[in-house]
Amino acid sequence: MLDRPHPTPATPSADPFALAKALSGLHFIGGAYVPARSGKTFAVVNPATGIEVARAAEGDAADVDAAVTNAAKAQKEWAKMPARKRGALVHQCAALLQEHVDELGRLIALETGKALRTESRVEANVVADVFEFFGGLGSELKGESVPFAPNVLSVTVREPLGVVGAIIPWNVPMLLMALKVAPALVAGNAVVVKSAEEAPLAVLRICEIMNRVLPPDVFNMVSGFGPECGAPLVAHPLVKKVTFTGSVETGKIIYRAAAEKLIPVTLELGGKSPMIVFADCDFDKTVSGALTSMRFTRQGQSCTAASRIYVERPIFDRFVTAMKDAVNGMVMGDPLDEKTDIGTIISQGQFDKVKGFIAEGAATAGATAHVCSRMPEDPALKKGLFLQPVIFTGLTRESRLVQEEIFGPVTVIQPFDDPEAVLAEANDSDYGLAASLWTNNLKVGLDLAHRLEAGLVQINQNLVVQANLSYGGVKQSGLGKEASLEAMLEHFTHKKTIMVNMR
Ligand code: ADP
Ligand code: MG
Repeated sequence: MLDRPHPTPATPSADPFALAKALSGLHFIGGAYVPARSGKTFAVVNPATGIEVARAAEGDAADVDAAVTNAAKAQKEWAKMPARKRGALVHQCAALLQEHVDELGRLIALETGKALRTESRVEANVVADVFEFFGGLGSELKGESVPFAPNVLSVTVREPLGVVGAIIPWNVPMLLMALKVAPALVAGNAVVVKSAEEAPLAVLRICEIMNRVLPPDVFNMVSGFGPECGAPLVAHPLVKKVTFTGSVETGKIIYRAAAEKLIPVTLELGGKSPMIVFADCDFDKTVSGALTSMRFTRQGQSCTAASRIYVERPIFDRFVTAMKDAVNGMVMGDPLDEKTDIGTIISQGQFDKVKGFIAEGAATAGATAHVCSRMPEDPALKKGLFLQPVIFTGLTRESRLVQEEIFGPVTVIQPFDDPEAVLAEANDSDYGLAASLWTNNLKVGLDLAHRLEAGLVQINQNLVVQANLSYGGVKQSGLGKEASLEAMLEHFTHKKTIMVNMR
């Protein structure tokens, strides 16, 4: 292991507030924490209290250039290392990350407001898992031999792309960083990450942990705003691939910028994922499945949130009642408290946006807003961005709440009578990320699974992204796959053909 000085504690720290302060005002470039060249910073706020907990470096094109230039130099050596050895180093990162799960969980809970027990610590664990998975795939960077002619040996080899620019959002920043960084590195690329302005700290903490194992410069991170820091990363001539998770609107801006340079992109964008419940389902399992599908513990801030739930009419009323009861049993409170199930919305802007959707739904004729759970009573949290989950009934497909991604704790339950009709409604969406079907009739389930327009369809479960299973949407939900061997091969390497005439 490399031993380099670093300003943050190398041993797990139970105090996320101290850690947030220690990480203030820094990028991670060239194997070290460095301030923004401009000296500018912006506030990182704990959404549970409204109090500033750290400053983030406000990166611009000069910082991006330093990070990319360093990465490009380091990438050449990194690519020469045997692939399996690169994988072994990424595997070592996994072990170190596992030791820091609690620390990383607390830090991400502090900056995002996601509850430690139900979300934040879980995310930290999955990060270690993703590094472990990709760390084992070095030997899979294989090519093929191709039949051409008896006297000509034709083979393909996989080569890295160069410097990868990775732009991530705030909802699961550590996980989304890991899904991009781990495969890119194993494939022999160097990476520059642009963190999300709302949640730059936990991912910044990970840099030091990775740096204990990896060569300096192969992994860099800048923080800052989209147009000032993200756009120069996409535009930089030495960046040969961009992988992005975020909004459809920003995804299209990035796609256009990448087109100017003719570089490949992977885009993981929004979703409006349907959950279809048949009367013959295992009722209790399906109700608890709906809570996880809707990601209520993440305040619904998930691209795959089951924000459209279709329930077969005979069990509709019973299902709505059971779901309300279940969500009422969830505890909203301090994200750092182990008892808390539901934390806060990330930012005032998102809070207002989600409230706008709720007000519009509540004002719709015939609609009922079932407001669930209870606001926390702790006076220290009175300025927190807590928002009670809302289950809507009585809305129809024309409603903006059924068509648009809300990215908040709001779901719409609608009854259905006929499988063909519900399939048509489920597919009547600009998005196509994920879907789930709940039935004991596998004939019906499999038939619909084949005809749903989505990148991921699950029957009788609705798990979040899993290592080894390709994840990525169709339609406005994006381009390309993540999380799998296929994702590493297709999106972080290119195939070169080599032919040898042996006569
Ligand atoms: P939201 O603002 O709704 O959270 P975005 O898709 O705008 O979602 O943001 C996701 C990530 O993309 C963030 O890291 C953000 O800074 C970055 N970003 C925003 N605008 C641009 C842009 N024009 N070019 C590159 N990155 C951007
Ligand atoms: Mg934005």
